[in-house]
Amino acid sequence: MAKRQFKTESKRILDMMINSIYTHKEIFLRELISNASDAIDKLHYKSLSDSSLGVNKDDLKITVSIDKDARTVTVSDNGIGMTADEMEKNLGYIAHSGTLEFKKTVEEGEDSQSIGQFGVGFYSAFMVSDKVTVISKAAGTEEANEWVSDGIDGYTIAPAEKETVGTDVIMHIKEDADGEEYSEFLETERLRGLIEKYSDYIRWPIHMTVDQSEWKETGEVDDKGNPKKDYVTTQVDKVINSMIPIWQKSKSEVDDAKCIEFYKDKFHDFEDPVSVVRVNVEGNVTYRAMLFIPSKAPYDFYTRDFQPGLQLYCNGVLIMDKCADLLPYCFRFVRGIVDSPDFSLNISREVLQHDRQLKAVGSNLTKKIKADLERLMKEDNDKYQTFFASFGKQIKYGVVDQYGAQADLLKDLVLFPSVKQDKSISLAQYVEGMPEDQKKIYFVTSDNTASAKKLPQVEPVTEKGYDVLVFTDEIDTFVTSTLRNYNEKEFCNVTSEDLGLESEDEKKEAEKKDEEFKDLIDFAKETLGDKVAAVKISHKLKNHAVLLSTQGNITFEVEKYFKEMPGADGMGAIKAERVLELNAESDAFNSLKTAFESDKDKAAKIVRVMYGQACIMAGQPIDDPVEYSDLVLSMI
Ligand code: ADP
Repeated sequence: MAKRQFKTESKRILDMMINSIYTHKEIFLRELISNASDAIDKLHYKSLSDSSLGVNKDDLKITVSIDKDARTVTVSDNGIGMTADEMEKNLGYIAHSGTLEFKKTVEEGEDSQSIGQFGVGFYSAFMVSDKVTVISKAAGTEEANEWVSDGIDGYTIAPAEKETVGTDVIMHIKEDADGEEYSEFLETERLRGLIEKYSDYIRWPIHMTVDQSEWKETGEVDDKGNPKKDYVTTQVDKVINSMIPIWQKSKSEVDDAKCIEFYKDKFHDFEDPVSVVRVNVEGNVTYRAMLFIPSKAPYDFYTRDFQPGLQLYCNGVLIMDKCADLLPYCFRFVRGIVDSPDFSLNISREVLQHDRQLKAVGSNLTKKIKADLERLMKEDNDKYQTFFASFGKQIKYGVVDQYGAQADLLKDLVLFPSVKQDKSISLAQYVEGMPEDQKKIYFVTSDNTASAKKLPQVEPVTEKGYDVLVFTDEIDTFVTSTLRNYNEKEFCNVTSEDLGLESEDEKKEAEKKDEEFKDLIDFAKETLGDKVAAVKISHKLKNHAVLLSTQGNITFEVEKYFKEMPGADGMGAIKAERVLELNAESDAFNSLKTAFESDKDKAAKIVRVMYGQACIMAGQPIDDPVEYSDLVLSMI
């Protein structure tokens, strides 16, 4: 029989397994039981619509057995089974894109807890075995096959004998060597402990033959005529797991810590979730839900590979693995389970979209998630910040999505970095902190808070004692333009010429100044031509000599957005109206004034330099950098 080779990537992963990088060898049993349980789920699910399979739900089970003499541990299930082709496909190589990520994680020294996340659970058998035999018969077929591998060279697949449908995974446990103990996995009590620890909630019974000792009457009597008893140990078949799904238990029975353990195992995450949301509703539709809000986005979250969705159960029976339509898209990071006796067993996506009961469940869960996130923001802000670092973009896109249809749901969940507080805050927090005379919510677009703080446009606002939100994501300005305002407070970009900062008196004062320097300003405007819409004396500037702002609705961000849009080249139609603001108290302005009176050529040069510097400070490109540099250098 020809030996087939593992695919290269699989081989490397196997090497890692065999060379025991992992500290938690014991998880192999959990992984195999989980595969067995999935296989039973699949068969059961299939049998709901195919009675010819002859499945009796009460017979479905997993069996773990030990043969000490042969040094084997076998995990058997009477689930869906595998054909020879499926063995080749599923066990022959480590599937899909998870492989590389997995390797990286291992190389970075992460814990073995994460194995399942990458679809390599089966291979964990090689952590404790030097040979694994899988005998399987697929439901609806007549032939069984045997897959055998030592995990190093490759594997063979050949026809085999097996009466019943399902799979036996036979692990040949390694000999103890070099201080590594493997024989412990041949002890009944050790395996029983592992099942209780990791697999208690598995919904199908896990059988084991265990020792049971008890006093038994021998049939004889003692001197006093009492029946004689002996302490005898017999071997009995026992169901080890409690089988009650954890989400069916009450809060007093299982605390959050237990749910978190469950989550990490079931959803293959090695980080604790930031929150566990448990819902128990009795009424029109009765259901229980256990939802988890992860702290980190899975590696494929922002790719097309990511499949969102909650698991749907009907009385503990899995009826749909990834129901993506229950929660809105913006909450697609939520993992978890919804279980209801009212769900119909053969639910389909079409049914789902029209089912009023399900819609009601979905909208209630959506509310609960929102409420929980708000709670988290208040009660454990650090955790919320962690959450937002991973999923904030998703929330912000949610606000903008569908023309803002979900803006109300999401607007209180959005955070932006604050210039004043050196951390990210919500819009509600911003508005709460506004001094009484502040009318608008100010924001600036910048790469980060540190650079934002240095921007001349920010200064006049912070000088007033007002906070400024820093928009670092491209989506941010779309969030504010979708929301328009928050709590009736308008959003205002600090690059706008009219920040609404000055009082009536200050305005009059400024107008007077504009009047005083009218000739100079006209001259500057003329010099710059249509580069700017206006030049004016600034009443906001204190420490900087110049400032570039915009008037009207088109900001620098909008201009940039349209410029970068495919097919927009050369259009130039959408342009922000630039305003050059000058600080009449600055040294530069004084030089300009002097030059204006005595040397118009020099004055024109100064104006062009002032404009160039304002562009640089505003992060705007200089039209002709070479010409501009020559100009500056000619003045030195
Ligand atoms: P994962 O379970 O994460 O997909 P595994 O490496 O553990 O990755 O298993 C690979 C695949 O092999 C499974 O997806 C499943 O299709 C198949 N498989 C594993 N164990 C069994 C089993 N006991 N019965 C049927 N199929 C199985």
